[in-house]
Amino acid sequence: MQPQCSWTRTHAQMLRPLSHKCSVFSEHWLKAAHSHSHSHSVRRSHNRPTFRATMSTVPTRKESLPAQDGSSQKAPQPLQVAKRLEKFKTTIFTQMSMLAIEHGAINLGQGFPNFDGPEFVKEAAIQAIKDGKNQYARGHGIPEFNAAIAERFKKDTGLVVDPEKEVTVTSGCTEAIAATILGLINPGDEVILFAPFYDSYEATLSMAGAKIKGITLRPPDFAVPIDELKSTVSKNTRAILINTPHNPTGKMFTREELNVIASLCIENDVLVFTDEVYDKLAFEMDHISMASLPSMYDRTVTMNSLGKTFSLTGWKIGWAVAPPHLTWGVRQAHSFLTFATSTPMQWAASVALRAPDSYYVELKRDYLAKKAILVEGLKDVGFKVFPSSGTYFVVVDHTPFGLDDDIAFCEYLIKEVGVVAIPTSVFYLNPEEGKNLVRFTFCKDERTLRSAVERMKEKLRKK
Ligand code: GLN
Repeated sequence: MQPQCSWTRTHAQMLRPLSHKCSVFSEHWLKAAHSHSHSHSVRRSHNRPTFRATMSTVPTRKESLPAQDGSSQKAPQPLQVAKRLEKFKTTIFTQMSMLAIEHGAINLGQGFPNFDGPEFVKEAAIQAIKDGKNQYARGHGIPEFNAAIAERFKKDTGLVVDPEKEVTVTSGCTEAIAATILGLINPGDEVILFAPFYDSYEATLSMAGAKIKGITLRPPDFAVPIDELKSTVSKNTRAILINTPHNPTGKMFTREELNVIASLCIENDVLVFTDEVYDKLAFEMDHISMASLPSMYDRTVTMNSLGKTFSLTGWKIGWAVAPPHLTWGVRQAHSFLTFATSTPMQWAASVALRAPDSYYVELKRDYLAKKAILVEGLKDVGFKVFPSSGTYFVVVDHTPFGLDDDIAFCEYLIKEVGVVAIPTSVFYLNPEEGKNLVRFTFCKDERTLRSAVERMKEKLRKK
């Protein structure tokens, strides 16, 4: 396997002047796409031996030591990465956001708002810093924030949890996922994942040595294929990872689907890890937490964060709620991953979670307006737009425009139209399954959304 973009490489390129024409995307990704092979270097071959150790093609550290004379003319160091991460590339979100900057394209790719979070939360952070809340926090969270999370969880799910024993504060939901997987999954354990999925799930499962089984959610409604699920879950399954509302599709798991998953988990003694970071962006139906289903709390880790709900994705404040016997594993991994999370931000996050209901009502109202602009716009442009019930994403079929696949389409969209979307094939175990679909986000101000739609109306032509 070829070494690909690594952080070293990416950083080097990020630091180049923006006028520099060379892009990570074009070098490592588009070229690969054009070579048409489905097992090419950037897309992941679905036949790859997922967890079998492969011989590394990356030279060892010894071979690549730089000259010791301090000369500035060193040969570039070969890229290095541990085998368990060899098959992963620079995340698609990083690649696309860099390209947006490079090409001056409107970024409807990576899901981060281009507007700021609420004043009362920012003020609370400033105040906490001024008040000297600046040393290490308690590993599993400052007591005030653990309590605020427990209160929020009770409001949302009706479940009463012990803030001291069942709540763990993490550095974003991404760390909650990592701590949950690394703390509760043994090498060789089978974990079921619904595709398309957030790329960090697969990479973290790989770091834990898990055996992944994927179940694909297919358009138009991305419904759970119940029969396939029933034949996949067995006594060998250790955990099922779900994400509702679901990134990238906007699908929300229905009560019926959750009931089927729950009964399979109870029958086969399976854990559920559930990422619910978009729970406050539930538009077309009510969000249901798996933990709230009968007998499920005891086998569920519920994860959430501040980023999406408070438009503060850069704060990286997340948490995991789970019964004490599962919290133990989560906390053990968390203590050695990050130990503790930013203290002043936890103080501010405690204030945020106690926001009045009106905050959440307004948030939804604002996002509904944005969603309407994007969805109507994309339909006018000529896309087949799939219904999205929650999240700030919408998935479309790009094939009316005649490009070969999602990667070719996104390349065209950036270079010729000036808009960034996310190709979805990278979110499948078998990339073929995502080749007709791309994801747009509407977490941008209305003017930006309208300009993106205008650009597409002007420059995209149906074939
Ligand atoms: N969750 C964000 C998205 O889907 C990306 C997070 C990241 O960049 N790792 O756009």
